[in-house]
Amino acid sequence: QCVAVCPTGALMETDDTAKVIRALKDPNKTVVFQTAPATRVAIGEEFGLEPGTIVTNKMVTALKRLGADYVFDTNFSADLTIMEEGTELIGRLTDYIENKKADLPILTSCCPGWINFMETQYPDQLHLPSTAKSPQGMFGAVAKNYFAEKLDIDRENMVVVSIMPCTAKKLEAVRDSLRVKDNPDVDYVLTTREAARLIKMANIDFNSLEDSNYDDPLGEGTGAAVIFGVTGGVLEAALRTVYETLEKKELKKLEFVPLRGFQGVKKATVTIAGIEVNAAVVHGLGNARTIMEEIKNGNKENLHVVEVMACPGGCIGGGGQPYLHGDDTILEKRTKAIYEIDHSERIRKSHENEAIQELYKNYYQEPNSELAHRDLHTHFKKQEKY
Ligand code: SF4
Repeated sequence: QCVAVCPTGALMETDDTAKVIRALKDPNKTVVFQTAPATRVAIGEEFGLEPGTIVTNKMVTALKRLGADYVFDTNFSADLTIMEEGTELIGRLTDYIENKKADLPILTSCCPGWINFMETQYPDQLHLPSTAKSPQGMFGAVAKNYFAEKLDIDRENMVVVSIMPCTAKKLEAVRDSLRVKDNPDVDYVLTTREAARLIKMANIDFNSLEDSNYDDPLGEGTGAAVIFGVTGGVLEAALRTVYETLEKKELKKLEFVPLRGFQGVKKATVTIAGIEVNAAVVHGLGNARTIMEEIKNGNKENLHVVEVMACPGGCIGGGGQPYLHGDDTILEKRTKAIYEIDHSERIRKSHENEAIQELYKNYYQEPNSELAHRDLHTHFKKQEKY
């Protein structure tokens, strides 16, 4: 459990990297990593592997070699996001059907780049995003509340480190709603590139690492969770759960093909329990503005749910991922790999994640409960335009 550190500090790109190293060396700290869905199909590029090489279990081993006490999966909290956001969607749809009045369309809220855009550009529409925190935010809250309690340690002695495809996640981690008093739910965020650099600094030969599994219990994720990494994935994951919840029968075909692909704005109507749900998927902030103008001008298409991701292709194209160097085929390869992982998973629906079921049974009771609202939901507020 040793971390190689440049003695001058010159190789440390960010303060967060140096702080993570310090935490890893501190015997009084329990260091818990979470890795976002999109990182596992991209970090290999930093070690010379083909784009889209799936290196999930090597990444876990590398983080353990760095000295992590626990390596967990943001896929776990992506499933939790679906439980909370899906319940909110069902609530708003039911309200609309019964009372003809509800805040629709519900907008996804897991992308902080998009949320910053909403808070600066459309502050009069902040009633529309789901109040569910992002998977990163939910993970931090579950780790520092539920898991720290389980380990019988103070939350101040736990350090949560996120490995994210995203630079906006760094800003998200310092939001007021992601902390208890002075103690943040997520202490440090490293991008995929920064994590790779840290692994190189520690002289770990990534490509020759053996595979390791994520730890329990926050390491269990489904196929629905991993597709959060691509445009359309959050909505597809939500529809898998909402369908089975409302229809009370098995969804046979899990792929919502019209919501997949790189088209800037995709729309589809899905019939669930007799309700025609009008859905849209948007990626890139230019397309987000187009859809927000449509909604602001009266939501003429009667949209019920809209997924927005700020980056092209979704998180696989995030600002913290290995550089594309102008080669867009890299995004296609990463996307293909994400869908391959989904397809290979034993469980592909968030509500069937057994660790999530346990978490509700032992702690949150049910989605959108009072305790769930305390830990797993947030609020949005107007920010000055930049
Ligand atoms: Fe971050 Fe981009 Fe993913 Fe949004 S789409 S969460 S900004 S990587």
